[in-house]
Amino acid sequence: MTAWQPYGQMRAASVQRQAEALATGSAAGTPRDGLTPLRATPGTAPASVTAIPCAQCGRAFPPAAVIPIQGQWICAGCRPLALQALSEALGSAATRRYAGFWIRCAAKLIDGATLFVLNLVVGYGIQSAFAALGSAAGAGTMLTFVGVGVALLVQLVIGLCYTVFFLGRFAATPGKMACGLLVVRADGSAVTYPRAAARHLADFLSGLTLCIGYLMAAFDLEKRALHDHICDTRVIQR
Ligand SMILES: [Zn+2]
Repeated sequence: MTAWQPYGQMRAASVQRQAEALATGSAAGTPRDGLTPLRATPGTAPASVTAIPCAQCGRAFPPAAVIPIQGQWICAGCRPLALQALSEALGSAATRRYAGFWIRCAAKLIDGATLFVLNLVVGYGIQSAFAALGSAAGAGTMLTFVGVGVALLVQLVIGLCYTVFFLGRFAATPGKMACGLLVVRADGSAVTYPRAAARHLADFLSGLTLCIGYLMAAFDLEKRALHDHICDTRVIQR
């Protein structure tokens, strides 16, 4: 082990696993089987304690009558409720539905079409403005080329702002919203603006690898594309 732990904590963890197995698995109905009550609270109570308060109801019990659930001592009476809460917490991760390759393709197409129209209008505006400036100043070709470059830069920034704003604010771009998709972290928490920006840049990598980065989503256990791997994100169905 990289970090040594007191035996008490290790033992608590093993009982915790048994409790989780009880909560989620087949043995949900059978009481206490395989659960060895601890004689000491890991790290807190000395071995000589005669009573441990239940974290749920607050009444004191002999050490043999309480079990640790989620790091708290729970009495036999409160155990079903505590285990139910635990299994619900575990279940939310287990029942999460990852969005597959094709639905993500559809979302990408919608976003692509939206950005295409937006970029077309903006690009046309910028380029014709530069061309007009050029012909007025008598340096037409030069300024037209500059206009193309400026338009390209602005379009890149628009793409970045589009993704960062919608992912950071709503956890989904309009295309993903339309397809009922959400971008979350591995633990289900929201994607921050900086992470959304990083994901947008990593998205280019997925495209640069002949789209193999996107294709990875079709084969990954959690349906992660390359940019999801890089930024530790998951795309899930609402
Ligand atoms: Zn209790």
